[in-house]
Amino acid sequence: MILAHNLGFPRIGGQRELKWALESYWKEQLGQQELLQVTRELRARHWKQQQEAGLDLVPVGDFSWYDQVLDMSVLLGVIPPRFGELQDEVDLATYFCMARGRAPGKKEVAACEMTKWFNTNYHYIVPEFQPQQTFRLASSTLFNQVAEAQALNFSIKPVLLGPLSFLWLGKSKGRAFDKLSLLDALLPVYGQVLHRLKTQGVEWVQMDEPILVLDLPPDWKAAFERAYSNLANGGPKRLLATYFGALGDNTRLACQLPVEGLHIDLVSAPGQLTQVLDEFSSYKILSAGLVDGRNIWRNNLEASLAQLEALRERLDDRLWIAPSCSLLHSPMDLALESSLDEELKSWLAFAMQKIEEIATLKRALVEGRSIVAQALADSAAAQSSRCQSERIYRPEIQARMADVNEDMTRRRHKYPVRAQIQREQLKLPLYPTTTIGSFPQTLDIRKARRDFKAGRIAEPEYRERMEAEIARAIQAQESYGLDVLVHGEAERNDMVEYFGEQLEGFAFTHNGWVQSYGSRCVKPPIIYGDVIRRQPMTVAWLRYAQSLTSRQVKGMLTGPVTLLQWSFVRDDQPRADTCLQLALVLRDEVWDLEQAGIKIIQIDEPAFREGLPLRRVEWESYLAWAVRCFRVASSGVEDGTQIHTHMCYSEFNDIIHAIAALDADVITIETSRSDEELLAAFANFEYPNEIGPGVYDIHSPVAPTEVQIVGLLKKAAGYIPAERLWVNPDCGLKTRTWPEVETALRTMVAAAHGLRSA
Ligand code: GLN
Ligand code: ZN
Repeated sequence: MILAHNLGFPRIGGQRELKWALESYWKEQLGQQELLQVTRELRARHWKQQQEAGLDLVPVGDFSWYDQVLDMSVLLGVIPPRFGELQDEVDLATYFCMARGRAPGKKEVAACEMTKWFNTNYHYIVPEFQPQQTFRLASSTLFNQVAEAQALNFSIKPVLLGPLSFLWLGKSKGRAFDKLSLLDALLPVYGQVLHRLKTQGVEWVQMDEPILVLDLPPDWKAAFERAYSNLANGGPKRLLATYFGALGDNTRLACQLPVEGLHIDLVSAPGQLTQVLDEFSSYKILSAGLVDGRNIWRNNLEASLAQLEALRERLDDRLWIAPSCSLLHSPMDLALESSLDEELKSWLAFAMQKIEEIATLKRALVEGRSIVAQALADSAAAQSSRCQSERIYRPEIQARMADVNEDMTRRRHKYPVRAQIQREQLKLPLYPTTTIGSFPQTLDIRKARRDFKAGRIAEPEYRERMEAEIARAIQAQESYGLDVLVHGEAERNDMVEYFGEQLEGFAFTHNGWVQSYGSRCVKPPIIYGDVIRRQPMTVAWLRYAQSLTSRQVKGMLTGPVTLLQWSFVRDDQPRADTCLQLALVLRDEVWDLEQAGIKIIQIDEPAFREGLPLRRVEWESYLAWAVRCFRVASSGVEDGTQIHTHMCYSEFNDIIHAIAALDADVITIETSRSDEELLAAFANFEYPNEIGPGVYDIHSPVAPTEVQIVGLLKKAAGYIPAERLWVNPDCGLKTRTWPEVETALRTMVAAAHGLRSA
C-alpha cells in the first residue's frame, strides 16, 4: 500500500512550549509532574496534527526532552560512571545531568560532550563508551510513548537510531579502543527493544542509519550486514532510514540489507535514485524523501508527483512518501507568521505545511490529481511566481556576478609586501593585543535594542545609547592597554541577523524557531532573492568609535560563508552563487570602511568549517568557492589595510591549505582548549601570515593567569615566529561580565608586555 509518513516532527512546539517548560523545570519553578504533563500534551498534539494532515504513520520516539541520541544512550544503558550507580530505570534527573551537568536535586557533574549532528545546526549529546562497555535496557520511555500513542489510537511507527550510527556517533573514553568491537554486545539489546515493540503490536520500526551517506571504512560497512541479519528475526518490519546525502558507494550495501524498507533523501541527493533502483530488491518498500526537511521552500508538487508516478510504475504499491529527513530541522508552522508578506509566504512551507504536502502527494497518487486539484494549482502558482518575481532576480546583481574576475579575488600584493606596508603604517608593537569583537551584552544594551525595535524609543535616542556603549568599550580597552580596539558590537543581537536586516533579499520570521540543542532554538533568516546593500551597514558605528581614540579600531563584519551557513538559503541557484552575492555586498562594506579611515577590518568566518560536505570528494569544490567568496569580500582594499578573520574552533589540519588560501593578513583562532596540536598544523604547513592563537577560554568564567598566557605564547612562538603572533582571547566576550572581562584582559595585556620586554 502506498503510504504517507513522517520521519520525525519538531518537538519544541509552535509557541516553544517545550523550551519554556524545560527551563522552568531546570530552575525548579516547575515540578517534574508538570513537565511530564506539558510534554505529554505536546506529543499528543503533534501526533494529532500529523494524522489529521493525512499521514498514515506518525513517528513515535522522535520526541525528546533534550536530544534523540541521548535518548538512545539512556535506552541502551550507556551511562558514564560519573553519573552514579545505575538504577533499573534511568531517571529524568540523571538524564538531564548527562545533558547539562546538573538537574534539580542532583549534584553537579561534568556534562557529556555535545557536537553537531551531521551537517545540520542541531547538536546531539555524544554517547560515551567505556572500554568494557555493557548494554542493557535502561529506560521504558520509548515503550511508554508507544503505549501512549496507541491509547490515543494513532497509527504509529517508532523511530530508533540504528546500532551502527549510534556507535559511530559516540566516543570511546579512557584508553582508545575500536567502538565497533562493542557491536556484538549492543545487538542483543537492540533485539530486546525490537522484540518489546513487537509485543506492543508495532508493525513497522524506523531505524535511522544516516552514516550510510558518509565515507565509511570497510569494517564498518561489513558490520551492517552482520548487524541487520542479526536483527532480522522476530521483530517488527524495519524501515532503514538514510538522509542528508547520497548513499553513493554504500548504495548496494544499503539496498541489500535484510530489512523490509529503505528511505532515501531525494532532496539533498536527487541523483541517487537511478542507482538505488538498480540495486533495489523486489520485495522492499522504497520511501521517497521528496519534501525538503531542512529548508523552508514550498514543494513543487507537480515535479514530485511526476517522480512518484514514475516510481509507481517501477515499484507498484511498494512506495512510501516522506520528507527528505526528520522535520526537526524545519520551523513549525507558517500560519504563525503574521508579518511576512503574502507573496513571500506563498513560497514557503514549514513543518505543518510539509506534512500536508506529503499527504497531498499521496492522495494525488492514489486517488488521482483531481481530488487535490486546488493544492496542485496553488503549488504551481507559487513556483511560477517565484521564478518570475522581481524581488528575486535583479538584473544588476546577476550582471555584477558575471563581472567578477580574478583580479577581484587577489590583494594588490602578496602578504610579505603588505605586511611591510602595514608595519610602517600601523606601527604595532611585537605581540600586539586585541579582542575578537564583542564586549558584554548587558541587560541595558538588550533593553535598548528591544525598545528601539518595538518603537518605544526613537532612532536618535537609540543611537545615543549605543554610542555611549561604544564610548564605554573604547575607554575600557584604552585603560587595559590593548593595542587594537573594537567598537564592541552593542548594536548586534546576532552576527547574521544584524547584517541580514539591512540587506534586500533577506526575510525574517517571528516564529521560525529551529532547535539547536536542548531548549536552545535559532531563528535563521531566509535568503530568498538576490542580495542588495542599499547603504553601509557598520560604517557609522565604526567611524564614531575611531573618532574617540588615537589607537586603531578594528572594523567587524560577518563573512559571506557564515552569513550563508546560518540562514535558510534559496534553492533556485547554487549555494556558491548566493555566497558570491553576499561576498560582493561585503566587498562594498569593506571598501566603505576603508574610505572612512578604518585601517584594520575583521571578517568573521566561524561557520567556514561547518560548510564542509559530508563526503570527502566534495570538499575541494566547496573549499574553492568558499575561499573565493572570502577573497572577493576582502581583496578590494589597499595593501596597507589589514584584513583579519576569526574562526572559533581548532580543527584545521585537514583544511589548512584553504585557510592559508583565504590570505587574511591575520587569523585569530581558538587554541586555548586544544593547545599546541593546532599550532603544529599551522607550523607544518608553513602558514605564511599572522596568527592570533586564542590565549584563554572565554567560555569559562575562571580568569586566566599571566603564567598560563605567557606559557601558551612561548609555546606558540616555538611554532610561529613571534613577529607573526597576536595576543587575543579565543572568541568574543559578549557572554561575559565587565568585571570578568577587565580581569582577563588586563592579565592578557600584562603577559604580552612581559614577553615584549623579555
Ligand atoms: N566578532 C564576533 C564576536 O566577538 C565573533 C563571534 C564568533 O566568532 N562566533 O562576538
Ligand atoms: Zn569565535
